[in-house]
Amino acid sequence: MGFTVAIVGRPNVGKSTFFNRLLEQRKAIVEDTPGVTRDRQYGIAEWNGKTFNVIDTGGFVPHSEDVFEREIRKQVTIAVEEANAIVFMADAATGITDLDDAMADILRRSTKPVFLVVNKVDNNERMLEATEFYSLGFDQVYFVSSISGSGTGEILDAITDLM
Ligand code: GDP
Ligand code: MG
Repeated sequence: MGFTVAIVGRPNVGKSTFFNRLLEQRKAIVEDTPGVTRDRQYGIAEWNGKTFNVIDTGGFVPHSEDVFEREIRKQVTIAVEEANAIVFMADAATGITDLDDAMADILRRSTKPVFLVVNKVDNNERMLEATEFYSLGFDQVYFVSSISGSGTGEILDAITDLM
C-alpha cells in the first residue's frame, strides 16, 4: 500500500519514459507484480526521503471511436480508483489533440489531485509552444523532458508535498 501515483495519457506521449526515469534516478525497485495485467507496470520511486508507488498505465490501441471511448474511461477510472494522485501526461511535440481533450474532460471531474505534465519540452521553443496546455484548465501544470530529465524535480516535489 502507501501513496500511489498513476500516470495516464494517450499512447506515445512518453509515459513509460517518464516512469522509467522516476525509478531509475531515484534508484528505486521495479516490482514484478504477479496477476497484474501486462499493460500496467508498477514501481517504487523515492524523492525527498519519501517513497511512493508509481503505476504506468499501458497503451491501449483504439480500433474504433466506441472502443476508444470505453478504453479511455476504463484506463482513467482504474487509475483514479487505485491512485492517490494522477499524472496526466501530454506531449508538447504534438500539441493538444482530441484524445487529450477527451481525457481532460474526464480528469477534471476527478476528486483526486491531477497534475498535468507536458512532456517533450526539450528546448525553449517547445516551452513557448507548450503554454497552450494551460487551456486544458488544470491548476497544476508541469513542463518536463523525460529524455533529459529537466523539470522532473518540480513534479516530484509537488507529488511528495501531498504525502
Ligand atoms: P508511452 O506510449 O506514453 O508510454 O510513450 P513512450 O515512453 O513509449 O515514448 C514514446 C516516444 O516518445 C518514444 O520514442 C520516446 O523516446 C519519446 N519520448 C519520451 N519522452 C521524450 C522527451 O522528453 N522528449 C522527446 N523528444 N521524446 C521523448
Ligand atoms: Mg508506455
